[in-house]
Amino acid sequence: MIPTNIKALILDMDGVIWKGNAPIGDLPATFSRIRGRGLKFVFATNNGTKTPEDYQLKLSELGVDVEPGQIVTSALGIAFLLAQRHPRGTRMFVIGENGIRAALVERGFEIVGVEDAPQAEAVVMGIDRGINFEKIAEAALLVRAGRPFYTTNTDRTFPTPRGEIPGSGAWLSVVTSATGVEPMVAGKPFPFLMELALDRLGTSKEETLVVGDRLETDIAAGQAVGCPTAFVLSGVGTIEEAKEWKPDIIAESLWTLVE
Ligand SMILES: [Mg+2]
Repeated sequence: MIPTNIKALILDMDGVIWKGNAPIGDLPATFSRIRGRGLKFVFATNNGTKTPEDYQLKLSELGVDVEPGQIVTSALGIAFLLAQRHPRGTRMFVIGENGIRAALVERGFEIVGVEDAPQAEAVVMGIDRGINFEKIAEAALLVRAGRPFYTTNTDRTFPTPRGEIPGSGAWLSVVTSATGVEPMVAGKPFPFLMELALDRLGTSKEETLVVGDRLETDIAAGQAVGCPTAFVLSGVGTIEEAKEWKPDIIAESLWTLVE
């Protein structure tokens, strides 16, 4: 199913590799097929809660061995974006978990908590399972006061084995609704995370296939950066929705794509 000119894959994870903690299909067999075909691959996820090492461990537990450098997250994407716009030491008010915090600290930024929020020079928002009213209120106050506003991604929902729960975009909408200000976005559907992945792969856009289960983020990001795209039906998107987006390939799952 994969065109012969394709040399590499940029793979989404949630809905392509797993749903929550449940693997989708026989992952060791799928990746042995991918390697057997000589395809390079990088995982690119809008989920910024975990570090590449966290994902390396999770993949290894599912029988897939990768290097941390093969994983790019929206947390790495936003840290890279912030490093281009703010000097080291800039104080950031962060709503987010370990993945985003580690990525910002690695770039030399200072993270301030709710109690010191008024000192923050920028607001960075990702998914945060410890979110509360105080955090949202401080973010809104800072954004209304004109501080630059960034987010890892705008995914409205987040897949779990039981269904969709509110994602980063759902929480973000509280702040955008309260302030009237839209953030700058690091993750898919914006092309930045794809560019980071292409940089890691060292392949051209034409020979790199972007694989994802969500049309408005994965497929849109692939199209935005100029890569061919493959839409898989193992996650949240449906074949009816696919007609509108016109991905280059539609497959039941990653396994059927590489079979
Ligand atoms: Mg997905």
